[in-house]
Amino acid sequence: MNLELSEEQEAVRRLAEEFVAREVTPHVVAWDRAENVDRSIVKKLGALGFLGLTVPEEYGGSGGDHLAYCLVTEELGRGDSSVRGIVSVSLGLVAKTIASWGSEEQKRQWLPRLTSGEAIGCFGLTEPGTGSDAGNLATRAVRDGGDYVINGTKMFITNGTWADVVLLFARTNDAPGHRGVSAFLVPADTPGLTRRTIHGKLGLRGQATAELVLEDVRVPAATLLGPEGKGFTVAMSALAKGRMSVAAGCVGIAQAALDAAVRYAGEREQFGKGIAGHQLVQELLSDISVDVEAARLLTWRVADLIDRGQEFATAASQAKLYASEAAVRCANNALQVFGGYGYIDEYPVGKLLRDARVMTLYEGTSQIQKLIIGRALTGVSAF
Ligand code: FAD
Repeated sequence: MNLELSEEQEAVRRLAEEFVAREVTPHVVAWDRAENVDRSIVKKLGALGFLGLTVPEEYGGSGGDHLAYCLVTEELGRGDSSVRGIVSVSLGLVAKTIASWGSEEQKRQWLPRLTSGEAIGCFGLTEPGTGSDAGNLATRAVRDGGDYVINGTKMFITNGTWADVVLLFARTNDAPGHRGVSAFLVPADTPGLTRRTIHGKLGLRGQATAELVLEDVRVPAATLLGPEGKGFTVAMSALAKGRMSVAAGCVGIAQAALDAAVRYAGEREQFGKGIAGHQLVQELLSDISVDVEAARLLTWRVADLIDRGQEFATAASQAKLYASEAAVRCANNALQVFGGYGYIDEYPVGKLLRDARVMTLYEGTSQIQKLIIGRALTGVSAF
């Protein structure tokens, strides 16, 4: 793999870095305290093409390869994980899944709106009683003439209250041993669909995380995404690519932790000298830097495999597992460098730690990534 960025990749990385400095960084503390990112950010992300990366240009995408997508995601994650998550979900889990599985009509209906930021998507898989065992859904879609009628509840849905379209997973077949899950593109204003914002999150406070309740939600059969009964495959294919995006966001957190810790170590003095000159502080900084580089290389490897059309799912789990755990370690080590000031939200590292923590939980917990990797190594499913 060529680790040198092309001119185009470097240009898109710089564009994202400048965007974050201008549109995100000045507001990060206020958005975190208010538990609300300013929604106008979505159109701004769309205007720069960040919501259409890797989506074909004929559907409003901005093209680009998966490494460029990682670079943008890393820069956004370095600035604010709540903003990064908007892109990872609306583009990474929803638009890219429509591009892969959608009918021509579905692509024309949703992709230009999603990639421009005129519309936003959310991914409705998790339920109150169904998390890691994602194939075991209780939400049901029952065929009624030319429609499906859907009932159920979805939990922890990123972009949930902002979304215009829900990529929703529901059971359509109860036969024993049959996964029987199907995917639907449900417009968020469909009668019977109500949404409630989930407050009090440890991190990602600016993000619109929601519970969705579906009571007799009637949608035409044309909203089915992919064949009936193939919804679990649709979900898993979305999540495999999504894990690369989460990993890239984690690299951004880890890099932000390193930048902040090195800067602070150069300013703070104790015992008559700068703390950067204390060996145990250098140990913290060096541990962070190794984690940053290792997480980045694992993540870029996934992008390279996807762009070369190779199998990437196990590599994506390895990258997501390592990068998410590394992001927590890096933010925690950076907080140690800051001492007591790290514990106050005027300084950036506490938020990095809070935001990093969920990365080991969503899109498959660290335990689930280990089971995916273990299955690939042994051929034995230990789920
Ligand atoms: P559980 O599955 O109940 O797991 C509890 C514990 O048991 C974990 O430690 C887990 O690793 C462990 N465990 C479970 N099974 C096994 C096993 N077989 N072997 C070993 N250990 C096991 N979901 C969506 O669909 N869309 C979203 O946009 C979305 N966004 C989210 C945003 C946030 C902020 C959060 C917190 C969650 C989000 N989720 C979303 C849900 C997330 O994907 C789930 O929380 C996650 O998959 C874990 O499910 P759970 O919380 O039910 O935990």
